[in-house]
Amino acid sequence: MSPSGKEDLFESPDFYNIDELLSDEHKLVRTSIREFVKKEISPHIDSWCQKAYFPNEIVPKLGKMGIFGPFIPLEYGDGGLDYTSYGLIMQEIERGDSGMRSTASVQGSLVMYPIFKFGSEEQKNKYLPKLASGEFLGCFGLTEPDYGSNPGGMITNFKDMGDHYLLNGAKMWISNAPYADIAIVWAKNEDGKIHGLIVERGMEGFSTPETHQKWSLRASATGELVFDNVKVPKANLLPGKSGLGAPLMCLDSARYGIAWGVMGAAMDCYDAAKRYSRQRVQFDRPIGAFQLTQKKLAEMLTEITKAQLLNWRLGKMMDEGNATTSQISLAKRNNVEIALHIAREARQIHGAMGITGDFPMMRHMANLESVLTYEGTHDIHLLILGKEITGIQAFY
Ligand SMILES: Cc1cc2nc3c(=O)[nH]c(=O)nc-3n(C[C@H](O)[C@H](O)[C@H](O)COP(=O)(O)OP(=O)(O)OC[C@H]3O[C@@H](n4cnc5c(N)ncnc54)[C@H](O)[C@@H]3O)c2cc1C
Repeated sequence: MSPSGKEDLFESPDFYNIDELLSDEHKLVRTSIREFVKKEISPHIDSWCQKAYFPNEIVPKLGKMGIFGPFIPLEYGDGGLDYTSYGLIMQEIERGDSGMRSTASVQGSLVMYPIFKFGSEEQKNKYLPKLASGEFLGCFGLTEPDYGSNPGGMITNFKDMGDHYLLNGAKMWISNAPYADIAIVWAKNEDGKIHGLIVERGMEGFSTPETHQKWSLRASATGELVFDNVKVPKANLLPGKSGLGAPLMCLDSARYGIAWGVMGAAMDCYDAAKRYSRQRVQFDRPIGAFQLTQKKLAEMLTEITKAQLLNWRLGKMMDEGNATTSQISLAKRNNVEIALHIAREARQIHGAMGITGDFPMMRHMANLESVLTYEGTHDIHLLILGKEITGIQAFY
């Protein structure tokens, strides 16, 4: 029950029997995360968002549920699951709230993934089990005040001081930053080459001021990362990969999770609208009896079904290791756009009630505005596709 006494009655649509394409393990994972969301997130999420409160206490619970980096092998304390399971987990968490999914995406795809892919064995053993369990929370610092869509222009930099690196600069719009125990920071060395560094809370000169007054992702903590002559041990450089390709590889994994996640938000809006349209009576008939309401619901279900099939196929390609950046861009871009549209249509079906916290649409809608922009804006993903089609890069 939520504080307003509303029970979370969510049921996901499956118009094309996509469940037949899922294994028993996939369905088990989905059911367990759905139950977790109904118990631990749905009853509180409206109040957390109204108060702009990040529930840091939920982080170990998310860890216990195996939500952080489930695709990372068991030997590092994680789930060893496939990418379809990861997608389903993101879908269910974002059905609860995009802010909660952002915390999980960042931890799994943007902090654990680079340590797993590019880290030394010592770094993996030191950080991955603690990140998997939620004992540690991590963040990913790529964006800077003057370099968003163009991260390659970054000015954050480090100098080799012999026995350590000296890090200077600032990152902005960083999810989890105010509560993070560690940050994966992308910075240039003296040759202008981008590397990932693991910066730990408590290092002198490192601070994480919180960004306030957001109208979106209010249950997710966002902040800056400020580096003022921070001494970073040499052992904290990720040795496995350098160049902009390294953070972009992490973003592919996270964007894949977003493509699934936003469909959770979309399904939540559709499910609420379907239920409301049967209950709300105007002109002596349920509003679901009117053709215009039916058109909205039919179009929502059509787009959800198309996206479910898209996600399922993309999951297979991720597991085979051959999903390309532009294929992931297509899914992220399409699914965020249709989720936003579905949230707006579902809000309309609810009339005035739709603007209140008794229903999830306005919260999802406001959250999805951030999702449309982060991890590559809607237009940048279009330009990635445009380049794939024409062979010509249009963004610089
Ligand atoms: C809530 C939230 C959480 C975030 N979390 C993180 C995080 O954890 N880590 C992190 O590193 N970053 C994070 N970000 C930052 C996010 O990735 C950036 O906001 C995003 O990359 C866009 O950068 P920008 O906001 O500077 O917009 P800009 O790059 O300034 O873009 C502004 C507009 O110009 C358009 N534009 C830019 N260049 C072109 C071009 N060449 N052609 C056509 N149009 C163009 C864009 O599409 C956009 O519409 C987060 C952002 C938000 C809102």
